[in-house]
Amino acid sequence: MGCFYNRCVYSYCFRKAYNDSDLCHKHKCVMDGCNQQRTDLSEVCMHHQCRVIGCTLNALNDGDSCLKHSCRLIGCSYCIVKDGNFCIYHTCSAKECKSFANRKGDNLNILLNEYCDEHN
Ligand SMILES: [Zn+2]
Ligand SMILES: [Zn+2]
Ligand SMILES: [Zn+2]
Ligand SMILES: [Zn+2]
Ligand SMILES: [Zn+2]
Repeated sequence: MGCFYNRCVYSYCFRKAYNDSDLCHKHKCVMDGCNQQRTDLSEVCMHHQCRVIGCTLNALNDGDSCLKHSCRLIGCSYCIVKDGNFCIYHTCSAKECKSFANRKGDNLNILLNEYCDEHN
């Protein structure tokens, strides 16, 4: 037994497991310190993947979505609304309007309507 090592637990993968994890470098999430298995087609695990269905990009640090799917407001890391550029909190509450709504303060309450400049 000259070749005894921890093998990657991924089905049919025979690579050596990466450091302390149960997975090889190909099947382990690329995020530092994360030893979870990658999802199909992405380089990160479920936890570190963008929450938008069909998107396989890495979620931003402490966010739920990738750069492409995060609210454009600096400092806001919520997912953008469908076909919009801002998250549900920072999108105008008027029907069909996807413009930026400047929600004041840290009170992110979806029940309180907030409108863009045009609908104010
Ligand atoms: Zn592997
Ligand atoms: Zn991960
Ligand atoms: Zn995404
Ligand atoms: Zn936002
Ligand atoms: Zn509006």
